[in-house]
Amino acid sequence: MKLIFVAFFILSIGKVCDADANGGANCATCDVIMGLVEQTSAIHNESLIQSLERLCKLLPDQFEKPCLVFADYIGPILFVIVEDKDTPDVICHKLGFCTSTKGHPQCTLFPLNSNKKLRHFSEDPILKQKVLLKKLNMPKIGANICDLPGIKEICAWINAIFNNHEPAVDLDGDKHSPYETLRGYSWRGKDCDDKDRSMHAGARTLNDDVNRDSNCNGIMGTDPVTKQPYETTFCEGSEPRGVAVLGDSISAHFHLPREWFNSTELSEGVFEGLPYIGENELDWPAFSYATGFMNATDPLDKVLHGKTDSIYFRLWQRNRCNFKDYQNIAVNGAAAEGMVKHIQQSLYRNKTGDYPLIVIYALVGNDVCNGHPDTIDHMTKPEDMRKYALQTLDFLDSVLPSGSYVFLTGLADGRVLYNSLHDRVHPIGALRNDVTYAHFYDYFNCLEISPCTGWMNTNETLRDLTTQRANELSDVLVDISNNTYKNFKLWYNTNPINTVIQEWTAKGLPTWQLLEPVDGFHANQIGNAEVARVVWEQMENQWPEVIGKVNPFNDKIEDIFGDQGGYR
Ligand code: CA
Repeated sequence: MKLIFVAFFILSIGKVCDADANGGANCATCDVIMGLVEQTSAIHNESLIQSLERLCKLLPDQFEKPCLVFADYIGPILFVIVEDKDTPDVICHKLGFCTSTKGHPQCTLFPLNSNKKLRHFSEDPILKQKVLLKKLNMPKIGANICDLPGIKEICAWINAIFNNHEPAVDLDGDKHSPYETLRGYSWRGKDCDDKDRSMHAGARTLNDDVNRDSNCNGIMGTDPVTKQPYETTFCEGSEPRGVAVLGDSISAHFHLPREWFNSTELSEGVFEGLPYIGENELDWPAFSYATGFMNATDPLDKVLHGKTDSIYFRLWQRNRCNFKDYQNIAVNGAAAEGMVKHIQQSLYRNKTGDYPLIVIYALVGNDVCNGHPDTIDHMTKPEDMRKYALQTLDFLDSVLPSGSYVFLTGLADGRVLYNSLHDRVHPIGALRNDVTYAHFYDYFNCLEISPCTGWMNTNETLRDLTTQRANELSDVLVDISNNTYKNFKLWYNTNPINTVIQEWTAKGLPTWQLLEPVDGFHANQIGNAEVARVVWEQMENQWPEVIGKVNPFNDKIEDIFGDQGGYR
């Protein structure tokens, strides 16, 4: 059921406030689900419950069953309470998931039909709904959508996945996993031996990898002609290195397929990748600008529009000895404080046993993004940014092998979001062209669950103030980048997204083409590939030592080891 995606959206952004207004996340979840159900019923000229069942049947088996359980439960209730021309907002008020908090404006996602008002149920909708259901001898609905039959199972699945920053399967404790999702090799190079901690991507070789592949790069054994180990011949002088990103949802590559939220595009096949996508927290690290390593194939290519390019991919092309040496330590919603307290610890590098690492510190927005109505008061202050960033750098100095590199990335200027999207139609309004991004942003602000009240806002002054704070935080990073550390060189790089957008606009192309259509907040697949190119060019032009030398043996490695064992 669609709930799952919205619940995912909201949970994964990690911004749900305790005091969210008018039903908050429950209301948004209900509205989006009912919106898709109502539009589907209009498209197929059928009842809401028939449409709900139709949508359930598009889901993979593990979700179809709970979805149908939910449909069985909610069907009779909808049959009784829904009147002709009720909009999804009206239905969700009747169901009690949306409320009208006293002294707070009413929040609606869709335009109200002129003859319909939310007022009926606004005073105490849950009470009225309970009275109504009791009269009808129906089971009561709680205020929490996760308590409903069928939905409960899906919420439990979500809760088990999120907030875990280390691989679910990792027997030897090197934080590299033989399993793909659940923070496995979608996120960091696949472990080729999960019983031996000394074997993982980035490890210095033991006994020149004559008999085993210590670093999982697919290069091992001895040349029968020269009697030299291949690792020695091809890699010893090549200065291998890996890349890691300490980041937020931009670096994890958060992506909700627009096909899931557009009733005119909902079809067989668009949900096929759901288990994979869900188990990766709705992130797509394997296609991200920092650590992407493959292009999407069926069924993921149906909902990911664009090619992969990444810093990791280019490092590997430059030196094939770097194969699989990537770590994506990015978490949706991460800000400077969370990075220090519970995210950076999941980075793995052995100071003496592993090769140097390029670390990109990229917390590009959450320090100024929150869902509070008084958003400015809840932004990170420059002195706190300094404190947390310095703590992360001290941590890195204690774990990174000597000869590593660290980049502090400046914050983005999120004003581009509103400027390029505000008058465009959001996928949820695609059927009737009735929901613009400006409206979508304000609806989330009304419910106080926006991932970024400051930038996703129709108030220009507030957008400008948010950018002002972002610039102040970037200035702190510029200042800190003058510090020196024992085990790494440190630089500041301006936010690549700003450069990508300038270049895109200079070509006469519209910037919405680079943005995620569902959340209206992140860079999409095309944006990610562009960011990879820009960051790489920054490194190449300003700090060429970071990317290392071109390995003259690349062709020979390819001749002998082919795809080096592949990624899976
Ligand atoms: Ca090897």
